[in-house]
Amino acid sequence: MPNYPKSEAILSANTQYIPGGVVSTNRAVDPPIVFDRALGAYMWDVEGNRFIDFHAAFGPYVLGHSDEYVNNAVRRVLDEQRSLYGSGTTTLEGQLAQMICDAVPAVESVQILNTGSEATYQALRLARASTGRSHIIKPQGGYHGWHNDVACNLMTPLGVLGERRVADEYPFLPISAGIPEEHSSLVHPVNFNDLESVEAMCRKYPIAGLICEPILQNVGIIRPQPGYLEGLRALADKYGFILIFDEVKTGFRHALGGFSTLSGVRPDLVVYGKAIANGYPIAVIGGRKDLMDLFVSPDPRRRVLLAGTYNGHPVPTVAAIATIERLAENNGAVYQHMEELGCEMQRGLEEIFKKAGTEAVVARQGSAFCAYFMDHLPVDWHDLAANHDADLDGLIRRELLGHGVYYFQLPMKQCSLSAAHTRDDVRYTLQAVAESLAAVTC
Ligand code: PLP
Repeated sequence: MPNYPKSEAILSANTQYIPGGVVSTNRAVDPPIVFDRALGAYMWDVEGNRFIDFHAAFGPYVLGHSDEYVNNAVRRVLDEQRSLYGSGTTTLEGQLAQMICDAVPAVESVQILNTGSEATYQALRLARASTGRSHIIKPQGGYHGWHNDVACNLMTPLGVLGERRVADEYPFLPISAGIPEEHSSLVHPVNFNDLESVEAMCRKYPIAGLICEPILQNVGIIRPQPGYLEGLRALADKYGFILIFDEVKTGFRHALGGFSTLSGVRPDLVVYGKAIANGYPIAVIGGRKDLMDLFVSPDPRRRVLLAGTYNGHPVPTVAAIATIERLAENNGAVYQHMEELGCEMQRGLEEIFKKAGTEAVVARQGSAFCAYFMDHLPVDWHDLAANHDADLDGLIRRELLGHGVYYFQLPMKQCSLSAAHTRDDVRYTLQAVAESLAAVTC
């Protein structure tokens, strides 16, 4: 296992001024690696090691790192002194809004924000403002940011994992301290892929909205079973709650129209981030015009406050425009390329595990994939937590570092290919996985 002395020294120096040495808690991984630069499918650390990157910074880099087309668009905005914002309307925000509305049938109008957390926050506010109700439903295993509504009641403590019961029987834990207890009484976790648990909540509480990643991509790739998303839509219509798809991870990564287009299920509201601007910080909330118009309601009791110094900042806004242009090029050739690589990766991994006699399955959606060390594809968080061999997963990830392959160093974190990856990268990685598996299971 290689050492990372320079990385360790930098992190240790950082800890004097930054708690834990990192600026987002789960970047604190073991071994700690400090990166220096990135281009295309590759990243280099401060020791000079090169890694094929499958982490993509938790998802944004759908075109690869430092995409020239996107960066040139940003440079032009800066060089032409068009980086003004905040004084009034600029010429870019309307252009981006129209592109998104054109790309996604479920989106009639949008607002432009900075982070996914802000977007999910505003989506829940719109749901509450429009219904006059306060309760929220949230399938477990999803992640929607750090704010109180979505960080309370997130995960079941490990001691009670493994049983599939209606979710409100579980004692849930918040993922953050400092959240008033009242929030937990308003946010109700349910099992993913379990419509019954949603209906049980609807009978019990007046539900304002349900927020859901249409594919659970923060615990690998847990796909919706046939009929699940359609069932959520039907329950939203029956009980009058707002259906919110959190497409911060799935949107623009799997298709221009996001997963709502691929699945054919129309949410009332949808949020995007990450891949929409290939690594530049921006997020978007969009959906039904009557809901979005609450941001400008003439009735002050119904108006939802929309404010943000950096909303529509020209740098990320033009980056999003350029990213969408690249994704739309040649009828979505980028998606075709990533699908082909994803398919080769999945088949290759399945073959490696089979040959080695390792119990494993590979879940995939287009460019995003995840190997689970269990005998079936997980259907929800409880299934995954009870059956996945997270220790083996962690060992393989660690071993891969020595081969110059960067899977994020946390079990169950999904891997992402980009437009910049090549078949050679996939083949090299498959060989590295075979050798790593052999090394950790011998
Ligand atoms: N929603 C999903 C599905 C996410 O994966 C994330 C971040 O990982 C968020 C929301 C929060 O986005 P941000 O980190 O930009 O606040």
